[in-house]
Amino acid sequence: MNSVTARAPSSTANLGPGFDVFGLALDAFYDEVQLTKQKHGISIITDDSIPVSPRKNTTGLVVEYMKKKFRIKSGVQIRIKKGVPAGFGMGSSAASAAATAVAFNKLFSLGLDGNTLVECAGVGELASAGSIHYDNVSASVLGGFIIVRTKPLDVIKILPPSDLRLVVAVPKITVPKKKTQVSRSVVPKHIPLSDSVVNLANASSIVAGFVRKDSELIGKSIQDVIIEPARAHLIPGFYQVKKNSLKAGALGVTISGAGPSVISFATKKSNLKKIADAMKKGFADKRIDSQIVICKPSNGAKTI
Ligand code: ADP
Repeated sequence: MNSVTARAPSSTANLGPGFDVFGLALDAFYDEVQLTKQKHGISIITDDSIPVSPRKNTTGLVVEYMKKKFRIKSGVQIRIKKGVPAGFGMGSSAASAAATAVAFNKLFSLGLDGNTLVECAGVGELASAGSIHYDNVSASVLGGFIIVRTKPLDVIKILPPSDLRLVVAVPKITVPKKKTQVSRSVVPKHIPLSDSVVNLANASSIVAGFVRKDSELIGKSIQDVIIEPARAHLIPGFYQVKKNSLKAGALGVTISGAGPSVISFATKKSNLKKIADAMKKGFADKRIDSQIVICKPSNGAKTI
């Protein structure tokens, strides 16, 4: 085998109160990464506006790490086709990293388990976020709902209920180059114990909702009194989008990852079109166009 292509889904991190802990794979957008053996080195080919230097692209870092870890001598050419918009809180760089780890595993017949693939894909996040976070990559590699424990890395996957639906609004605004760093810098360093109690109760209820396959419980527990209030000002129109969506029947609404996308939680029975239109109008009132996607949770990365 000389070449392998893998496809990995977008994802939403945090789900409100699960900051840096929760991830959910979304069948909204997909990245495709083709790895081909070559004589020497690592090279990247893409038509998308992302860095092509292997040290600055998540895929390059993953290949470099896996080559070293598994003592692979062959060079690797990486061809990236982006489907996940980069920098909008949809786990774009993580999707590329996830597809790369899965493709590398197949190309060199390594037979790696899910946790090892997550560890390898996580290394890529150094290129985009400047530090390693496993919430998006875990969801993108494994699919479904993910709880990430660190030190040591321990990833817990729960299959989402089949009637869970999400409506994502991706505002067409210019995102700052260091968006993830900026949005991390506004997160409070100290929090009142009472706020941590509220978030813990909601985060626990989200987990219970996934375990019980109860989309209503998941949706109404998407409430965050710590991170969302600190970040909302970075997204013009956020509170209007949220208010409109709740009024249209969404169960819960929050920032997707570090933003600026906004995600609404609903069920198959909700009026999803009404929620989508309400979110679009919330941004439009601020003269911001947005791409709205109604989607379900996704399975993990696969070779194709
Ligand atoms: P988000 O999760 O909001 O999409 P990311 O953490 O994916 O944000 O960061 C996007 C940043 O990562 C962009 O500035 C982009 O240049 C950089 N980046 C590096 N490699 C990739 C890649 N393969 N795909 C997408 N973005 C990448």
